[in-house]
Amino acid sequence: MKEEQTDVVVIGSGAAGGMAAYELTRSGVRVVMLEAGRDYSPQVETPMFQTNERAPLRGASTPEKVWGYFDATIDAEPFR
Ligand SMILES: Cc1cc2nc3c(=O)[nH]c(=O)nc-3n(C[C@H](O)[C@H](O)[C@H](O)COP(=O)(O)OP(=O)(O)OC[C@H]3O[C@@H](n4cnc5c(N)ncnc54)[C@H](O)[C@@H]3O)c2cc1C
Repeated sequence: MKEEQTDVVVIGSGAAGGMAAYELTRSGVRVVMLEAGRDYSPQVETPMFQTNERAPLRGASTPEKVWGYFDATIDAEPFR
């Protein structure tokens, strides 16, 4: 196996690790990122990238999801 030099190891590709790796690599730092989680597709799995016309009831609010079908909030209160 080829041995490569690395300056920084980022553990976890979440919000903090992702931004750290992004900024470091843009500055020319050699980064290796290790991620323990599964493959994740933000295009498919992130509700904020989904549109209401693709949702049941066209994303209309329900008592459980007052902000619409893709509502991920907990105990959300509607605007009054
Ligand atoms: C349902 C939900 C909705 C949210 N909505 C919002 C929102 O709308 N706006 C907002 O600002 N924030 C939101 N948050 C909060 C936001 O997601 C977190 O504050 C943010 O992700 C924390 O960033 P982080 O880098 O600390 O951790 P994470 O983003 O959780 O990243 C940690 C990463 O490290 C990996 N990891 C863990 N252990 C290891 C290991 N031993 N080896 C390798 N990899 C490892 C994990 O798999 C993960 O990918 C939400 C959180 C949840 C749960």
